[in-house]
Amino acid sequence: MSRIVYLNGAWLPEADAKVSIFDRGFLFADAIYEVTGVVGGKLLEYEGHAARLQRSMTELGITCPLSPDDLLEVHREIVRRNALNEGLIYLQISRGTADRDFAYPKDPTPTLTLFTQAKPVLDNPKVATGISVALLPDQRWARRDIKTVQLLYPSMAKMEAASRGADDAWLVEDGFVTEASSATAHIISKDGRLITRPLSHAILHGITRASVLDIAEEAGIAFEERAFTPDEAMDAAEAFITSATNFVLPVVSIDGQPVGDGKPGPLTLKLRALYIARKTASAI
Ligand code: PLP
Repeated sequence: MSRIVYLNGAWLPEADAKVSIFDRGFLFADAIYEVTGVVGGKLLEYEGHAARLQRSMTELGITCPLSPDDLLEVHREIVRRNALNEGLIYLQISRGTADRDFAYPKDPTPTLTLFTQAKPVLDNPKVATGISVALLPDQRWARRDIKTVQLLYPSMAKMEAASRGADDAWLVEDGFVTEASSATAHIISKDGRLITRPLSHAILHGITRASVLDIAEEAGIAFEERAFTPDEAMDAAEAFITSATNFVLPVVSIDGQPVGDGKPGPLTLKLRALYIARKTASAI
């Protein structure tokens, strides 16, 4: 079924939504994006995603053509127009179209587009089995806190992980895990502490990560925001990733070594259940 997508103020069948070859998103990856989960036709963690979008735009000097209220309304309208029950909304905003030049054009008109993807996010079969990850060098740019569409290295890393028989990659820089190719990486130590890398330019500031830390605190699970090594991860009791559509997903092996007993860990599954309960209840 053809989707209805949003492009610069117009609602169009997906085949009719066209962007110029001079768009700076196409030529320079001069564009940012957000992915918002949808459950029961409602937006999960919208406020966090809207705030991070604003932060990315500020970092790059891109101005959103819509007011915050109108942007929320477009999210709601795209759900309605596509009768989306479960899945995600992808939003991308590029600096706009201009003749090719490294310098930013003066007063460009940004290109704003949104589309939906239907996907069962609650009943993910990987929750029962957990996923395997391969360790790969982090060769992305140094401003990973800005959610840009420069996703070629994460794509390469996912392909390399698959060729090694793993579901995903955990990226390593200077001897420490930065994050997964498209999610935040976390471990739980043998004494039951959640360990996650602190916010910096090295990682994306995950919206799910922030909520999981709040939930851990309320559930009495101690956490430490510090970098951890691949050896520490392999020796951990549990490991998991977080992201807008994976929520909390167990990692059961790292470079072929089982994590803990090689099964999804109890604290990981508890955090997943608490996260889903909390965030579906507050979805808008
Ligand atoms: N880290 C990277 C590199 C990502 O691409 C993502 C999500 O796309 C995340 C972390 C998780 O962020 P969030 O929880 O906001 O989806």
